[in-house]
Amino acid sequence: MYPNVEPQPNLPDLEREVIAFWTADRTFEQSVEDRPLSDEFVFYDGPPFANGLPHYGHLLTGFVKDAVPRYRTMRGQRVERRFGWDCHGLPAEVQTERELNISGHPEITQFGIGAFNDACRSSVLRYTDEWQQYVTRQARWVDFDNDYKTLDLPYMESVMWAFKTLWDKGLVYEGFRVLAYCWRCETPLSNTETRMDDVYRMVQDPALTVAFTLDNGDRILAWTTTPWTLPSNLALAVGPDIEYAVMEENGQRYLLAAARLGHYEKQLANATQVGTVMGSELVGRRYTPLFPFLADTPNAFQVIGAEFVSTEDGTGVVHLAPGFGEDDQNACNTVGIPTICPMDSGGRYTSEITPWAGTQVFEANPLVIRHLTDAGVVIRRDSYDHSYPHCWRCAKPLVYRAISSWFVSVTSFRDRMVELNQQIRWVPEHVKEGSFGKWLANARDWSISRNRFWGSPIPVWKSDNPEYPRIDVYGSVADLERDFGVKVDDLHRPLVDELVRPNPDDPTGRSMMRRVPEVLDCWFESGSMPFAQVHYPFENQDWFENHYPGDFIVEYIAQTRGWFYTMHVLATALFDRPAFRTCVSHGVVLGDDGQKMSKSLRNYPDPMFVFDTYGSDTMRWYLLSSSILRGADFSVTEAGLKETVRQVILPIWNSWYFLSLYANAAGVSGRFRTDQTDVLDRYLLAELGELVRDVTTNMDEYDLFGACHHIADFLDTLTNWYIRRSRDRFWAGDQDAVDTLHTALATLCRIAAPLLPITVEHVYRALTGERSVHLTDWPDAQQFPADTDLTSGMQQARAVCSTILAMRKAHSLRVRQPLASALVAQHGSIDLIRPHLDIIKDEVNIKSLDLSTEVERFATFELQVVPARLGPRLGGDTQKVIRAVKAGDWSTEGDRVVAGGVELFPGEYDRKLVPAGEGVCAALPGNAGVVVLDTEITPELEREGRARDLVRLVQDARKAAGLDVSDRISLAVTASAPWIEALDAHRDLVAGETLALDVQSTVQAAEPPVIEVRRVS
Ligand SMILES: [Zn+2]
Repeated sequence: MYPNVEPQPNLPDLEREVIAFWTADRTFEQSVEDRPLSDEFVFYDGPPFANGLPHYGHLLTGFVKDAVPRYRTMRGQRVERRFGWDCHGLPAEVQTERELNISGHPEITQFGIGAFNDACRSSVLRYTDEWQQYVTRQARWVDFDNDYKTLDLPYMESVMWAFKTLWDKGLVYEGFRVLAYCWRCETPLSNTETRMDDVYRMVQDPALTVAFTLDNGDRILAWTTTPWTLPSNLALAVGPDIEYAVMEENGQRYLLAAARLGHYEKQLANATQVGTVMGSELVGRRYTPLFPFLADTPNAFQVIGAEFVSTEDGTGVVHLAPGFGEDDQNACNTVGIPTICPMDSGGRYTSEITPWAGTQVFEANPLVIRHLTDAGVVIRRDSYDHSYPHCWRCAKPLVYRAISSWFVSVTSFRDRMVELNQQIRWVPEHVKEGSFGKWLANARDWSISRNRFWGSPIPVWKSDNPEYPRIDVYGSVADLERDFGVKVDDLHRPLVDELVRPNPDDPTGRSMMRRVPEVLDCWFESGSMPFAQVHYPFENQDWFENHYPGDFIVEYIAQTRGWFYTMHVLATALFDRPAFRTCVSHGVVLGDDGQKMSKSLRNYPDPMFVFDTYGSDTMRWYLLSSSILRGADFSVTEAGLKETVRQVILPIWNSWYFLSLYANAAGVSGRFRTDQTDVLDRYLLAELGELVRDVTTNMDEYDLFGACHHIADFLDTLTNWYIRRSRDRFWAGDQDAVDTLHTALATLCRIAAPLLPITVEHVYRALTGERSVHLTDWPDAQQFPADTDLTSGMQQARAVCSTILAMRKAHSLRVRQPLASALVAQHGSIDLIRPHLDIIKDEVNIKSLDLSTEVERFATFELQVVPARLGPRLGGDTQKVIRAVKAGDWSTEGDRVVAGGVELFPGEYDRKLVPAGEGVCAALPGNAGVVVLDTEITPELEREGRARDLVRLVQDARKAAGLDVSDRISLAVTASAPWIEALDAHRDLVAGETLALDVQSTVQAAEPPVIEVRRVS
């Protein structure tokens, strides 16, 4: 006997019950220990920042991080799952500044670096308990006891080793280069940080066209959207191959790119063109500085030729301030102009810019503009809307500035990174050559130092006297202890800064070795995760050699520029191999309005509400079965969650409820068996084998989306075909049917275990009495009888049924009304349907069914092109295709359509069915053929339809009277003449179906019929 099953599951209760069981049973630990150390599947967990609560993105990633290891475990592999925490860096520091209500370097230094870092330490771990609750609630199995944190000494020591190793390989250098810089956080940022999503926002900046006076008195026009950089102007750039127009007005000549004249029509309305000059002819000309501040700079104030100059916007002349632009710096340095950056760490002018010293540069824009306007050199002033980078932590607009920073010379091993990427499997595949491959191909040197406080230190000590230069780079705690003679048990600032010793290269003994002040980019630390989590190379050398690359990682797509990238950089530079074999990168979870999820817009259901209402399996399936796992963005809606319950969770539950109810009523119990002979049993078992095969392939390819869809299809077969067509057998307690359903459910539970871990755990344990579905082995498709003729024939029969049922619905012909005949015409394998004609006739209630292969006798298909879909792909060829279709120059083969020699893809065309003769006609799914339905209702058919309606009315009356399904009755029907005629014609049918021992009828105007049932003992 099976346990009694509730007709309706309470999903949140089920979740609590199963999770409590796992905790008490230590099922997770058992599932790891059961599998051999000799066959490990290595999963790297990307460490999250724990200074906020998890959101849908984390939950989605977490579901994938759980589903794949559960699958690999069932396949016999050992999958350790250590949780990790990302603790350092700007996210922690900016939040701590807010909490302490302090801002900027002076205030932090005054507060005390030690106290500030203590506050960061407690802030980053504040939400770890909540994270653990969410992760547990989402049924994610991870090892929290054995977690790693990037702030732990062993982790930081491995990071230090990585820096030192790069240094020894000549892959780290210190440079004075223009970088994106946050003047609020007072630190440079890397490309990774300026290319993450959300960083670019639309802003409006002033755009200024100013005139510089050349040595011959001509004025050359330059355009800028950062007027605050004009006081630092040291050169002008022109395109050597660009043609410049010489315009004259009242004897004054003006120069600008000829291609840009149209843009300055109004300003040049009274000027006439008196000649042209090529940019190459302008190179080397001198001009008068706009401001006196930097007038003594060597080689400055000359026109330079540069390839990056374009005529896309502006004047075709670019103002260069080498301290504030990468191109500017490179162009100026080549002609011997030094990089000068008169801005302090807080983004304010320094004393060189005398009148505005101390003014924040964005606030200086209006002051600069007013000054230049008064000087009469502003030719035109507009505003300019453009997408501009902002700080990923504090959201202030960034500036570009020259700053001293430490770099990894990524460009020197970029080609090798591209090569090693070929060894990585990307899901979806296009990421390899797409967003990741392109990012690699254009990789720049990586700025890894941050002028901050809370992070792994840059392990470089320098002599404080340039007369006795010396640099020491450290790669281990032991080396530090040896040189500084103290015990080192914390590498954080300020303790690490207190490690000072005399410079061994200074015979006077006065200069000291001091650490450089910067800390490492936190992305360097998360990129070190594969080796730092195990304290490599100080411990676990053998383990690491055998567990690197990792087998599997997953995060969202933007990590192609973040974590995926920094891991790949370090893996290439340190180990010359990839860090991971397979990487799943998913899309972004959006709100129900298609916008970014926003607390203030309330455009998404709260995750805890979803857990409490629908259960976490529903959320898991909903996300994993969505296009987000194929890289698309995806909107979370409550309607979608409800649909998941209806289409996936309830069908599994209802099948289990159905099995227990009927098997228990008949006093039988099922067991796993595959030798049944009934055609529907054999069909279901064959489909089960297909399901196992398909889902195994999907899971092996990390295609969770595909796995979900195969399972959903099987559920449809199970509930809407197998169970529905077998009700009578279950009612009779047929052992083969009970065994078949038992076998199907037990197998389905195992197949769906990674994707619906809670629901199927409950069902599986109750069904089989075993300890846990998650401790079982993955099913073997070979166990099930394969019969492709049977599955193919039955699938065609089902397609015919659904087509006829849809035709009935369209023509308002209820299924209880028998119809005389139908005809199925399709090309090819029609014989496979033949064994199932009786099933079809019974299912759709028709008297006879004919088969034909002559589709053209009954219908033709017309092709219609969808220009809106085709146009964007084909452009001008769209018309050619449309003409070809009109001329009949097209052919089809399955889903493949070729028109005028051009292949059309699904969605770009419709195929419309045109019936050739009489009767109601509809196309089979995929246009495989047609069904012609005889919809004529003869008086005889009409009577039978009424008789079947009567049966239904009597069944309702039996239920209303509270009769048992096996009670015999005495039946009295009072109704109008057509009803009684129908009853008389089909008295045996009505009596038989309703267990009526005697039937009395009275003709009387009664609509609907009056039914009386009386139990006969
Ligand atoms: Zn910032």
